[in-house]
Amino acid sequence: MLRLPDPESARLWCIEQRAASHTLGFVPTMGGLHPGHLALVRRALAENDRCCVSIFVNPLQFNDPKDLASYPRDFEKDARMLEEAGCDMIFTGTLDQFFPEIENHEQIVKRDPGPGADGVEGAARPGHFAGVATICERLFQTVGASRAYFGEKDFQQTLVVRDLARALGYPDIVVCPTVREASGLAWSSRNYLLSETERVRAACLSQALFAAREAWRAGERNPANLRAIMLQALRVEGVELEYVELRDPEAWSPQPPSGPMSRAQALVAARVGKVRLIDTLRLDGNES
Ligand code: AMP
Repeated sequence: MLRLPDPESARLWCIEQRAASHTLGFVPTMGGLHPGHLALVRRALAENDRCCVSIFVNPLQFNDPKDLASYPRDFEKDARMLEEAGCDMIFTGTLDQFFPEIENHEQIVKRDPGPGADGVEGAARPGHFAGVATICERLFQTVGASRAYFGEKDFQQTLVVRDLARALGYPDIVVCPTVREASGLAWSSRNYLLSETERVRAACLSQALFAAREAWRAGERNPANLRAIMLQALRVEGVELEYVELRDPEAWSPQPPSGPMSRAQALVAARVGKVRLIDTLRLDGNES
């Protein structure tokens, strides 16, 4: 596996791959790798001739400096995991290297993330999706035409990157199901920051989503009732709820639904101790 230290070397490698008629699967990550990331890499390898992964903790998408400072970073461990998974190339870089034309980071003009960023996680983390769209634009320009793999766990992010890819004309976006620990807890780099007790408590996020899906399957379509079922499951010591929302995953309308729903994406965010976690589940037919 090739390890490249900057985006420019990665760009040249990707050009070479395309020149040799190899299809390219790209998995953007912030490191702190776990089985969720590896599932994206395996899918990219299965569907393309070559797979490359970026590892970059993007400061532009953090609205909380403490979150940025404590974000898990272990490049060597990540590289070993990716090598074992069969990845062909990994690259990293600094903000300076990603935006060489801009002298001062403060002057980077963030991209408008579009309507997918409205509400829910976008409202809870102002500027977050603009930071995501800005780095993804640069990453896509670096890697060029390819398929790019994203996790459904970050549902709103998939809306933002799909809009971005449509605007740029590339890459093809592939959204992959959420990978969960045995308890149901969605894998996240931030799980590494949880104590054992917190990890047990954190399972209530997925339990709330599964309870809502059970209710949906039993015929419940009233958003207030579905929300109440989730709130009940989230009443756990040491878990500070930030939001529980239901949205139409396709219309992504800014108004919370009041009448019966025909499609539903349930989204939850909570702090478990100091660690902020999010999870989501599609309640109707297409759920992962
Ligand atoms: P991150 O490193 O957190 O920016 O995540 C990189 C990619 O991995 C994003 O597309 C995430 O949605 C995806 N991802 C994160 N956690 C999971 C998971 N548990 N299952 C599947 N994909 C995931």
